[in-house]
Amino acid sequence: MIKVTVWNEFEHEKTNPQVGSIYPNGIHTAIKDFLDIYDDIEVKTSTLDLDDCGISQQLLDDTDVLIWWGHCAHNKVSDHAAELVQNAVLSGMGFIALHSAHHSKPFKRLMGTTCNLSWREDGDKERIWVIKPGHPIACGIDRYFELEHEETYSEPFDIPEPDELVFGGWYEGGEIFRSGCCFYRGNGKIFYFQPGHETFPIFKDKNVQMIIKNAVYWAAPTCRVKLECPHVKKIDTDK
Ligand code: ZN
Repeated sequence: MIKVTVWNEFEHEKTNPQVGSIYPNGIHTAIKDFLDIYDDIEVKTSTLDLDDCGISQQLLDDTDVLIWWGHCAHNKVSDHAAELVQNAVLSGMGFIALHSAHHSKPFKRLMGTTCNLSWREDGDKERIWVIKPGHPIACGIDRYFELEHEETYSEPFDIPEPDELVFGGWYEGGEIFRSGCCFYRGNGKIFYFQPGHETFPIFKDKNVQMIIKNAVYWAAPTCRVKLECPHVKKIDTDK
């Protein structure tokens, strides 16, 4: 059983009627709903308005893969909560950062760069290309798929070189973007996935849902081990 926690800042849904009409119960619930159909995935949700920003050591100890959606309230997430997430990833927890989570505190800590990108919001069509067809996260996805409307995210994207680049996005305005990037940090696996702007029903798209489901299986820890680098004594004491 893979234990997934979907964390959402849950702000736009309550303040923007357009977003509220797409996701009446929040983006976190929409993601939970399509993951819930898998018998070997157990999903719970957490939101910024809960105690301690919805992040505690107890929650992370009980989470194999943490999915994160945030946009306008990154600064309301405490540094302590971000550190807990960072340390959990280093100890093996999987982390999936969606769309504007590129600027979330946990993701920036794990990348070590600004994670800035270029963008515009014109509702362009996006064509997402599979760059690494043999990768488990691309399993079941055709050569490409299209999202009728999405916020444009464009290069340059200030992240470290991804360990694996699985998807690339192209927009009808001409921009390109590294849309699906895998990173290994400590014992943990991280997947950044660009689609998911709140004013479009991106998380209702079947390809997006399949990719997030695939990413959960990929990012789930094979073993959860705290990184230990102790001071050591000679192994062969007769030398
Ligand atoms: Zn957006």
